[in-house]
Amino acid sequence: MDKRALVLGGGGFIGGHLAKRLKDDGYIVTAVDIKEQPEFWESHEICHSYITADLRDYASFRAIFEKDEGFDEVYQLAADMGGAGYLFTGENDANVMHNSALINLNCLELAAKKNVGKVFYSSSACIYPEHNQMDPKNPNCVESSVYPAAPDSEYGWEKLFSERLYLAFNKNYSVAVRVGRFHNVYGPHGTWEGGKEKVPAAMCRKVAASDGEIEIWGDGEQTRSFLFVDDCVEAVIRFMRQDDFLGPVNIGSEEMVSINELARIAMDAAGRQLKIKHIEGPIGVLGRTSDNALYREKMDWSPKISLNEGVARTYKWIEAQARK
Ligand code: NAD
Repeated sequence: MDKRALVLGGGGFIGGHLAKRLKDDGYIVTAVDIKEQPEFWESHEICHSYITADLRDYASFRAIFEKDEGFDEVYQLAADMGGAGYLFTGENDANVMHNSALINLNCLELAAKKNVGKVFYSSSACIYPEHNQMDPKNPNCVESSVYPAAPDSEYGWEKLFSERLYLAFNKNYSVAVRVGRFHNVYGPHGTWEGGKEKVPAAMCRKVAASDGEIEIWGDGEQTRSFLFVDDCVEAVIRFMRQDDFLGPVNIGSEEMVSINELARIAMDAAGRQLKIKHIEGPIGVLGRTSDNALYREKMDWSPKISLNEGVARTYKWIEAQARK
């Protein structure tokens, strides 16, 4: 019989790609999102059934679990989410914590009561302590370094709380959870304007729109690594398809670059060189990259798509969006 998958946050960036991949793999896929339609896909491209629902609302959430005969796999990616301009200014802290925590509380209560197989939870690199990420050349994001806890944003604190919630429901109610910590995922079919976009998308948009100069927040020497969305989806699926290891585990890339270097890569993708102007703005921690040793050990797999290739694919898509 076909396996049934539920993708929460399926109208969003990673959720859309994940739902599409599961559908392509032969799953019966239900995607749920507060959005009326997936932002960058036709719903039939990514799922068999697309439901618009506010997952903060317990009754709406329960109705999804009661609609069908249960789900073999649940992927929980719904969150009140955005890039640095949304998460690190402090202006959205209460909503970010309240909205995402409610979704996760509802999800676990229902997973414990209803017929579900495994539940994947998308945590974040933002849970790692700020003091381990002050050296741009040598950040430490090994899984065990998360305690004593000191995330640099309320978004990170909510993710850490929810990670613990998923593990507690595994311990007390035998919900089969898998907890992954995403590190800066990027690619086509994601938010690329409006303030909620992430750095690679913002960079591609700025390069596509500029005729001489682009602006970068801070001095651009802060470092990050970026995981192409196809590699992210592959990593999640491999993690879900093994039976022994619950995580938490990093799902990211180890190809670390400065933001100035990322800008150059986006310019190469566009085939033109622009000036960089550094301006004041939220920059987050000074250095961050994934440490994939645990993922490699448990799943024997590493990301395949280089930053050059991934940015080139993303640039092409954003440039086409900008022209519409
Ligand atoms: P996204 O914003 O594109 O997707 C999240 C989706 O959740 C959105 O479509 C949104 O409409 C939906 N949502 C929000 N509130 C909802 C509600 N009340 N009811 C129903 N749906 C609701 O973000 P994404 O980049 O695809 O991220 C997916 C998950 O991965 C999120 O949990 C995010 O925190 C986590 N994550 C992402 C990254 C990254 O680099 N993209 C990094 C770390 C963690």
